[in-house]
Amino acid sequence: MPHDLPKAYDPAIIEDHWAEYWVREKLFAQPTPSADATGTGEPYTILLPPPNVTGRLHMGHMLNQTEMDILVRWRRMSGRRALWLPGTDHAGIATQMMVERQLITEGSSRQQLGREAFVERVWEWRRHYGGAILDQMKRLGASVDWQREYFTMDEKLSVAVREAFVRLHEQNLIYRGAYIVNWCPRCQTAISDLEVVHEEQKGHLWEIRYPVIGEKGINSGEFLAVATTRPETMLGDVAVAIHPEDERYLSLHGKTLRLPLMKREIPIILDEWVSRDFGTGAVKVTPAHDPNDFALAERHHLPSINIMDDTGHINDEGGAYAGLDRYQARKKIVADLEEQGLLAGIKDHVNNVGHCDRCKTVVEPRLSTQWFIKIQPLADKAKQAVREKHIRFTPEMYEKTYFEWMENIHDWCISRQLWWGHRIPAWHCAECRKITVARVNPTACAHCGSAKLTQETDVLDTWFSSGLLPVSVFGWPNFGKSNTPGAPGPSHLGTWESNENRADFDAFYPTSLLVTGFDILFFWVARMIMLGCWFAEDVPHADGSRRSLADSVPFREVYIHALVRDANREKMSKTKGNVLDPIEIVKTYGTDAVRFTLASMASPGTDIAFNIARTEGYRAFANKIWNAARFLFMNVDRAVEVGITVDLAALGGMPAVADDAPLEARWIVAELNATAAKVNQSLENYRYDDAANTIYQFFWGSFCDWYLEIVKLRLDFSETADKAQTKAALTTLVQVFEAALRLLSPFMPFLTEELWHAVYDGKPPAKSIALTRYPQGDGLQMNEAVLIDMGVLQSLIAEIRALRKEIGVEEKAIVPIQVRTDAGMQIVIGENCAMVERMARVSEIRLVEQIETGLPKHSTFNFDVAVIYERTVDVAAERERLSKDIAKYEKGLISAERQLGNEGFLAKAPAQVVEGLKKQEAETRLLLEKAQAALAVMPPE
Ligand SMILES: [Zn+2]
Ligand SMILES: [Zn+2]
Repeated sequence: MPHDLPKAYDPAIIEDHWAEYWVREKLFAQPTPSADATGTGEPYTILLPPPNVTGRLHMGHMLNQTEMDILVRWRRMSGRRALWLPGTDHAGIATQMMVERQLITEGSSRQQLGREAFVERVWEWRRHYGGAILDQMKRLGASVDWQREYFTMDEKLSVAVREAFVRLHEQNLIYRGAYIVNWCPRCQTAISDLEVVHEEQKGHLWEIRYPVIGEKGINSGEFLAVATTRPETMLGDVAVAIHPEDERYLSLHGKTLRLPLMKREIPIILDEWVSRDFGTGAVKVTPAHDPNDFALAERHHLPSINIMDDTGHINDEGGAYAGLDRYQARKKIVADLEEQGLLAGIKDHVNNVGHCDRCKTVVEPRLSTQWFIKIQPLADKAKQAVREKHIRFTPEMYEKTYFEWMENIHDWCISRQLWWGHRIPAWHCAECRKITVARVNPTACAHCGSAKLTQETDVLDTWFSSGLLPVSVFGWPNFGKSNTPGAPGPSHLGTWESNENRADFDAFYPTSLLVTGFDILFFWVARMIMLGCWFAEDVPHADGSRRSLADSVPFREVYIHALVRDANREKMSKTKGNVLDPIEIVKTYGTDAVRFTLASMASPGTDIAFNIARTEGYRAFANKIWNAARFLFMNVDRAVEVGITVDLAALGGMPAVADDAPLEARWIVAELNATAAKVNQSLENYRYDDAANTIYQFFWGSFCDWYLEIVKLRLDFSETADKAQTKAALTTLVQVFEAALRLLSPFMPFLTEELWHAVYDGKPPAKSIALTRYPQGDGLQMNEAVLIDMGVLQSLIAEIRALRKEIGVEEKAIVPIQVRTDAGMQIVIGENCAMVERMARVSEIRLVEQIETGLPKHSTFNFDVAVIYERTVDVAAERERLSKDIAKYEKGLISAERQLGNEGFLAKAPAQVVEGLKKQEAETRLLLEKAQAALAVMPPE
């Protein structure tokens, strides 16, 4: 039975091979369940948080995809009907900018192209570059169903977006209104709070005098001073507000001011919102350019004057300053105020300035007409769903964060002034000026019948479509015949009774789990909960019964993954230059080692300090398993030569051993069961770290370091050997190894796939290890007595090894020992003396009542042990060895001291390098002292 396994473990080769195989064989496709399908298990569904179509894989993706893949593979192998559904987000603003940049390099622009041609251009861009991040996922072996890959601008999902908008509009939950939004003058769109990055910047606080209009007009010489960081906005001032109890200004109650430069009369208003301690205690009110002022103006029924256009230039409302860019206007206004003696002062001031996340332009808070969702009814349902525990958060603390946000929720501005996205299905009538919202593009105004309709130019916020994903990816709302290709679209929406296209929804909604980052808890997670509950509740169950809120939620669990930081626990950032590219690390160490590194540190709420040294360690772990496989195959092949074959049909489950099997066989099976039980339990609790470390300990410690070494005693292929015994030992060895591969498979899918196929030597019982069964720990197999006996033997061997070291027994020497222990243990040692002799290099075990006095011994609760060793030392050789060591240590010390004394080096070297050097110096000093002491007590020659 030749096992075709290369000598060296080379992840690059095996990973490329299997990644391609998994996709080609459609191994992880989860077809739409048919009504007569039976016995396929309870569904387990995860939606991949769709990366932006413009995205590239980073360490955060790598972590959350590793976490998802481990869970999906584990659940799939545990008999669930697992579906991991991939897709990409059209990412309105990011993608539009990417293409705009491309156009600029070609000397063109979005405006030059016009809307239709531009949108076509974006589609073209997407066809060329849009799949990059999913290709990376394919290479990393993510076990997603590629047959179901979606794009948020797909026809099917766009129908859902339109239906959701129209339905909310019909329910009077969508309105249009003028509100303050974050406006990017470069992108020329409203952007969400999420897309604004705040940065501290040095700026100024200008104090401006507003003349008070007294009985003699403004010539009384009385002023009210206000302070502002954006003087240009004064062009849009409609009032100045003071606190009603501010004693400094009592005399000004009821008076008016002359707005400088604009020569407009504005009132002084009283409002308790004004802080008396900030600035002068008087606040200019610019409702169209500040959210607080907007609220203030609403309370006092003041008008809003918008003084800026979409590009950040002053418009006609700005009088003499019209046409100037906002910063040019600022300069000129300050100069003019100074000239008129109205500038009371300029102070340095650190501002928290918002920038557009995409293009870094300073964001302008600005009044504009937008579309909003009246969010409260949806929020109430979403809160109820979490309050009643229909959705569970891990870590639990995020539930509190969720409620904090939901309690303070504002209406959701869903319109964006972009070209790339789902265009709002609303039409403006040129005759009656009313709006028609419709599922199908209308030909006539719903109010007056006029045909003079133009579609709204705004598109929907990207989060609106991604918020609908849990329902839309499973076919909502198009459950009827209209889903058949070629049939007309949304006007033919099926009824809920039509079962034709709802099998997916029935099977996979609600999804089981969402794994995502805390940064989009509100923007995405909360919105999916709101929209999911709202729309799914109207979809009855397949049997026609009403869907409860518990079954309307988009997912039953939310797992918020942690951050991946660098080895020094610093956040990765481009400016710091400490960003790790997962693809580069994968190239060096293999996907399996990187996955294992992340898994071994992942637990709820704990950030990961990614240290490449750990990845090196796990690469060595993979190598160790590889070599174990080669050892195993070598023995299987040798066995065949003497007529012993391992029955492959005996593999695939959990190995069973006879009661009279050797201790190590019963022990490794008990260990395997205990390990499997612990791993299953850990994964159930999202303790990836515990699961990974448990498997690591089992493979490296129990299996390789102990079992493999002991079992060598049984693999006797000589003429005189007991063939039945050899076959039994070999069978258990192969069985345990095969089961351990399955246990490891969700963590290291490539390595285990390769070795599993090799175990079956080209005749595997399934297309992939991923389609086999996950080992479950059987309590009956965790034989407590066996674990205890073996534990005592292991500690006996460890004590002998330690003693040998202490008294300087040479590596290769075989020595007798004395052991004092109880009657029970004496039997165990007697039965397993070969094991002890082999593992601790012992020539003879003498069981005694009492350890002979004077012998070097170790004592534990269970035994005393002594090593009998007459030391024969070659004094001359030993002196020479010690002298050489001393010289070496001295040299090392001098070099370390020189470096540590070098000021220039210390100033430049990273802290951990200096730390390492100091540690090394201390260690060398200790070794030197030890060697010197040893030489001092050497007998004379
Ligand atoms: Zn921008
Ligand atoms: Zn009309």
